[in-house]
Amino acid sequence: MTDSTLPFDSRLTSSAYSQALQVIEAVEPRIAEATRAELADQRASLKLIASENYASPAVLLTMGTWFSDKYAEGTVGHRFYAGCQNVDTVESLAAEHARELFGAEYAYAQPHSGIDANLVAFWSILAHRVEGPWLEKFGAKNVSELTEADWEALRAELGNQRLLGMSLDAGGHLTHGFRPNISGKMFHQQQYGTDPETGLLDYDAVRAKAREFKPLVLVAGYSAYPRRVNFAKMREIADEVGATLMVDMAHFAGLVAGKVFTGDEDPVPHAHVVTTTTHKSLRGPRGGLVLATSEYAPSVDRGCPMVLGGPLSHVMAAKAVALAEARTPMFADYAQRVADNAKSMAEGFLSRGASLVTGGTDNHIVLLDVTSFGLTGRQAESALLDAGVVTNRNSIPSDPNGAWYTSGIRFGTPALTTRGFGHDEFDKVAELVVDVLSNTTPGSTKAGGPSKATYLLADGVADRTRSASAEMLDKHPLYPGLDLA
Ligand code: PLP
Repeated sequence: MTDSTLPFDSRLTSSAYSQALQVIEAVEPRIAEATRAELADQRASLKLIASENYASPAVLLTMGTWFSDKYAEGTVGHRFYAGCQNVDTVESLAAEHARELFGAEYAYAQPHSGIDANLVAFWSILAHRVEGPWLEKFGAKNVSELTEADWEALRAELGNQRLLGMSLDAGGHLTHGFRPNISGKMFHQQQYGTDPETGLLDYDAVRAKAREFKPLVLVAGYSAYPRRVNFAKMREIADEVGATLMVDMAHFAGLVAGKVFTGDEDPVPHAHVVTTTTHKSLRGPRGGLVLATSEYAPSVDRGCPMVLGGPLSHVMAAKAVALAEARTPMFADYAQRVADNAKSMAEGFLSRGASLVTGGTDNHIVLLDVTSFGLTGRQAESALLDAGVVTNRNSIPSDPNGAWYTSGIRFGTPALTTRGFGHDEFDKVAELVVDVLSNTTPGSTKAGGPSKATYLLADGVADRTRSASAEMLDKHPLYPGLDLA
């Protein structure tokens, strides 16, 4: 029995991949072998990493073409290379699908990843808000007309801007102003957190910080916050202090696309600029997108040469295919199941006495606080992996174990929902996780002191978890019917 939510034809896909692997085998058999092994591993593991998914064969196959060989710096119809007519078709289609799907005024499909999309967004905002008015004041059309002294002064002006984003331990991303990331170095940054009691975003506290700090850019969005955000409120705060609202929806773009997040929870009508990855809940190829209002479109359109070089045309083609898939009712149904399944998993944890950051979820993420098991995130992550449960450790608010060892495990439902897991399976997953963690004890260092990394998993637990997982995974195969001859 399977109810995979992926659209594909198993006979055609089996034949396409079997032949493709033969072609690769003839040149470097070890790569063909690793490719087969990766499919086998992905099929056999309980993938609960919140940022991962399984793209459709149509999306994956689209990336393996000669579009990879073409340089196309510039924008549609305005390239720095000849012969880009087919890349123009691909990029236009990706942008059109993105605009239609998200109801955006403008879409830019070139960023290679989420980090690239955020860099394009930051520099577009700086170009629009700082560089443009500055050039106007000096009567220059572009920076090439500036003297060295003018240019130095502009550089100081650009580097003197402020950004307010969500802190890493509250669930924000590195690119939201974390000091070691370029976003924390190119901007004067401050961070907002969550309420220490509830773990929820406190909009009044964000407002108070924004009033005091007066950022040029207010960033909303997250990597590990298990709740929805009210973007209408974030826009109100941005407007009050004259900030540009940038929303990074990398994690939850699939829920926006599938209309699970609507109204105040849909960032697109509220933000000036929205960035996303295309490979997480959106279930496309590894890449990024920037959406913007018409006001910001001209500066976003200068992503190349501002921070990008040649676009990955083969990936833009795959983005167009994935976005076309995301416009179907089948995808909307998938997105709703992703959110429903997260609730089932959260209830599964709570009913077994586990503690969750914010007490639950209303998106695709469940963040388990593992301190009640007497473990660090690192110990819990390793013990779960021994039992075939693939997750990642994550900071929790005011984490006592810091960003390396951490005190949380982040779970996400997009990947296993793609395989067809539903309420009962996610409840069972919670049971298995609680069983593994209840049977894990902290180890010690070589010197005999307490360790935040070593652990002991009781005998037999890994085997019983693996066999219970295998039963569920067999019922919901990845790419059912795909057979690599
Ligand atoms: N933004 C958010 C909110 C993310 O969670 C991530 C990835 O984890 C990124 C950006 C970066 O995406 P990428 O790994 O594609 O650069």
